[in-house]
Amino acid sequence: MIRDTDYNFIQTQDEEVYKAVMGEEERQAKGLELIPSENYVSRAVREAVGSVFTNKYSEGYPFKRYYGGQMYTDVVETIAIERAKKLFNAKFVNVQPLSGAPANLAIYHALMAPGDTILGMDLSHGGHLTHGNPMTVPAKIFNFVRYKMKDPETGEIDYDALRETALREKPKVILAGFSAYSRELDYKKFVEIAREVGAVTVADMAHIAGLIAGGVARNPFDDGFDVITTTTHKTLRGPRGGMVLIRENEDIAQRVAKAVFPGLQGGPHMNNIAAKAVAFGEALHPNFKVYAGQILKNAKAMEEVFLRENVRMIGGGTSNHLLLVDAFTSFGTTGHVAETILDEVGLTLNKNMIADDTRKPFDPSGIRLGTPAMTTRNMKEKEATEVAELLVDTLRNKDDAAKKAEIHTRVEALCLAHPIPESFI
Ligand SMILES: *Cc1c(COP(=O)(O)O)cnc(C)c1O
Repeated sequence: MIRDTDYNFIQTQDEEVYKAVMGEEERQAKGLELIPSENYVSRAVREAVGSVFTNKYSEGYPFKRYYGGQMYTDVVETIAIERAKKLFNAKFVNVQPLSGAPANLAIYHALMAPGDTILGMDLSHGGHLTHGNPMTVPAKIFNFVRYKMKDPETGEIDYDALRETALREKPKVILAGFSAYSRELDYKKFVEIAREVGAVTVADMAHIAGLIAGGVARNPFDDGFDVITTTTHKTLRGPRGGMVLIRENEDIAQRVAKAVFPGLQGGPHMNNIAAKAVAFGEALHPNFKVYAGQILKNAKAMEEVFLRENVRMIGGGTSNHLLLVDAFTSFGTTGHVAETILDEVGLTLNKNMIADDTRKPFDPSGIRLGTPAMTTRNMKEKEATEVAELLVDTLRNKDDAAKKAEIHTRVEALCLAHPIPESFI
């Protein structure tokens, strides 16, 4: 599985790091990755990440740089931009943000002054840390106000309350997007409300960018959103990184460019930008649509098992790649304990807050799981069903060591039968 030439130089010169890399290779090969924000990239993407572009300083933007020697950096950055424009139907794209959090900070910086108000999803209802968790820098600079789900059993957003809050608080930005929410948003409603109060609409699509690119989730631009921020390493299956896309407003695009550099960053990571270009090329390939569609089918297969087994899901089920399970109600165990027990049988996922959770973030009531990584391993509905059944079985027999050993063996067999592919096109 691992060719012995892959890490030759690390092996001969740095045994300590080599051991850790090989350990991680084995962990990824044998374990089933259910964390919905993770994925496996192609060999081509990893070659680009490891390429000589890592040596280059390229402050500025293509054809407007502060250092010389940019004939090839300009080429790859332009390819990344043009491919991203095509994938998401955007007029302007900035591929320099180092990750999702810096991309969000950039857009806040571009669209607001300190003290300005932004309306985003409540964190326990699925919003991301960067949407105003009190511990973060953005929360110290801007005034975050919240909307929520109307009913956690269906997942529908309370659009009436969202509108009332917008009319009262007059936000400069209305933010849609989530990292623990399993339903589609009604982007048109966001846009209507934003127009009423003169706010800019930003969709943080970090989790579902691959579903949008693959044409199986709605593109917020089709409903008039102004800006999309995203990561490139989740469902989009690229290198770690961030990106900002602007539907058509040139003024916003220029403000974003300045906010990213020099506002927040110095030199862009050109090796990652080269890898973004490669990943976007893969996402433009017809196979990617099939991949994105299968992510949804696999999530539905898991939903079916949970419904049958009376497992409580926040939002009542899933319309995307992830499922948020109330472990406390369903299995009488906290999210932290469930995560630990599942790790023991080779199922990796994460504990997560559920709507209006009464427990603490470090030991919340829920677990969050998703299908992007297992789908990359070519697992289909049959395997997704089996994995969901194994998960339920594990949590219902958490004190039965023999049973857990048997489940672990089955998980490993599933993984060995579905090796991580090297190429997708
Ligand atoms: C993952 C995520 C981010 C942050 O991305 P990082 O690359 O971890 O900084 C931002 N927003 C949402 C909605 C996310 O899911």
